[in-house]
Amino acid sequence: MTSAAFQQALARVGDGDDIRAEDLATLLGAVAPDQIAALHEAAYAVKVREVGKVVYFRGLIELGNLCVRDCVYCGIRRDNTIIERFTLSLDEIVQGARLAHEFGYGSLVLQGGEREDEAHTDFIAEALEKIHQATGGELAITLSLGEQTREVYRRWRQAGAHRYLLRMETTDHNLYAELHPDRTDWEARRRCLDYLREEEYHVGTGVMIGLPGQSLAQMAQDLLFYRAQDVDMIGMGPYIPHEDTPLGHHFAGFDAHRQLRLGLNMIACTRLLLPDANIASTTALQALDPHGREQGLLAGANVIMPNVTDTRHRASYQLYNGKPGLQENAPETRARLDAEITALGETVGYGQRGDAPRAVKRGLAIRP
Ligand code: SAH
Repeated sequence: MTSAAFQQALARVGDGDDIRAEDLATLLGAVAPDQIAALHEAAYAVKVREVGKVVYFRGLIELGNLCVRDCVYCGIRRDNTIIERFTLSLDEIVQGARLAHEFGYGSLVLQGGEREDEAHTDFIAEALEKIHQATGGELAITLSLGEQTREVYRRWRQAGAHRYLLRMETTDHNLYAELHPDRTDWEARRRCLDYLREEEYHVGTGVMIGLPGQSLAQMAQDLLFYRAQDVDMIGMGPYIPHEDTPLGHHFAGFDAHRQLRLGLNMIACTRLLLPDANIASTTALQALDPHGREQGLLAGANVIMPNVTDTRHRASYQLYNGKPGLQENAPETRARLDAEITALGETVGYGQRGDAPRAVKRGLAIRP
């Protein structure tokens, strides 16, 4: 890519009114250090202008690894018989929420394998109520529990959830069907984003980046989807193989540098396309590089999700190989992240819920 062509693409995407898929593919494919720097700097400037030099922490609680789905890339897929299955108790969940609250994290993310049984629906509703009781209703709560019926989303919203992250994983229908042989219906998943919007959640989505065989053009379409869907939050990360999965087993030639580069370029492009959204710098970046999450912040992300639960179950929530932080407990994580963020010249938004300006403008500010 010549420098002039790259600069033109960056200028057009940065302007925001003439967005072309080819330009996005050009930006995503940047490998020359000066081009990467120009892209990340442009995105960082937009972030500073729109959401400030503030990083919001979301206390992450990994609820359990029981899962009804059989996604070919994921370490906690139904057919993985090697891992030990666990479900946190209500007490353990509330303990994690209390810790997040004490730490001044303004919000929580409850994530887990996908379940559809009524006992699970009830359990989540009860967990939401207990968390609010234990923390004075001060925390914003994001759920990331996959595809559910509209009724289930409604029930959880009423029980106190505010935000929902449902990754589409890829917006390419064929690739989606290959990755989810047991549930090939991409549109059914996308419809869930509508349900979530109708139930007045702050809505987030995302994809995996750099899947085997995935082209820059497909990733550019993922970006255009974010914009077309007009979401408030993005949580995405590079694909990393897991050896006990059908996809991870076959994926020779994994290139961690490429995955990190693509992951960061995707964040930067997302910030240019959705200036006032919340964008997470996810653990998968850290798995590729010890400082991957900080690099994500410098490429335009503004949210980090430190784990707040006991380290006991971490090894059983390995979605991909080399997931970091298996040993590090919550206070250590907080101290390390705080120091790193300060060193970047940013501050942590302690005690704040950190709603995406995009959601607030929509009239979705969270009221206690
Ligand atoms: N069941 C929930 C949460 C799933 S786990 C849901 O569907 O929303 C959270 C995310 O981890 C997944 O959405 C997927 O994007 C990511 N993930 C799973 N396996 C991965 C892998 N091998 N590499 C990178 N990310 C992965």
